[in-house]
Amino acid sequence: VKAGSPASSVSVSARLKHLGERYSLRDRQCEQLAALLRGLAADERAPTAVRDPSRAVDVHLADSLAALELDVLRAAKKIADLGTGAGFPGLVLAVALPESEVGLVEAQVRKCAFIEGLCVSTQIVNARVVRARAEEWVEGMVANDAVLARALGPQAVVVEYAAPLLRVGGTLVDWRGRRNHAEERAVERAAARLGLERVEIRHVEPYAGARDHHLHLYLKVRETPEGFPRRAGMAQKRPLAG
Ligand code: SAH
Repeated sequence: VKAGSPASSVSVSARLKHLGERYSLRDRQCEQLAALLRGLAADERAPTAVRDPSRAVDVHLADSLAALELDVLRAAKKIADLGTGAGFPGLVLAVALPESEVGLVEAQVRKCAFIEGLCVSTQIVNARVVRARAEEWVEGMVANDAVLARALGPQAVVVEYAAPLLRVGGTLVDWRGRRNHAEERAVERAAARLGLERVEIRHVEPYAGARDHHLHLYLKVRETPEGFPRRAGMAQKRPLAG
């Protein structure tokens, strides 16, 4: 893709091929990604506004794959995607990281059913759908090397959901848009109360013309204190003020 040219002028299969090269994916993995796109396009009840392959290849696939830039993610064996919706970013990263085990955590039954179907039709065997609220997923506590979140909510809420689910030494990767320095400062303080430390905010350009895409990385530096997770809904109702 030439700099500045709209990505949509390039065919979907060319963009898939480009992603495969950029991230050193095998043919089988590229085929699975293509199957994911077909699965989204084929089901008009798919729980996402972006189903058209010419947009989904960027907005869902490329944006999810951007995290492969991170060594911590490539090394993670147990990964959990909180509020995965139609399966992003977790399902795509399960394809890219076949040695890892990915928990796709989603509160809504209907969305879970959709992702289950996608896992079957695309033959993804290292992802597991977890029908639960993130703050009520007991088996996930202290069990993950990496926790992922995209469009899950205000960052104070995301860090509170993620902290108890990470092992000490594990990393939260939060997909966010334009930098918000006031929120970042407040969340840094909230995170400290949870045993997390922000280690990086990485600007990424997952596709041509993508602006203001950032991956926020928080490292779990010590155990999350007693009292977290607070009971369901509290993180949202009374976000940690920092
Ligand atoms: N990550 C996806 C979906 C974002 S929408 C993407 O980027 O495309 C947020 C999703 O999180 C919704 O599907 C919603 O049902 C789910 N969700 C919200 N709060 C949740 C919680 N506490 N636990 C689990 N899932 C939650």
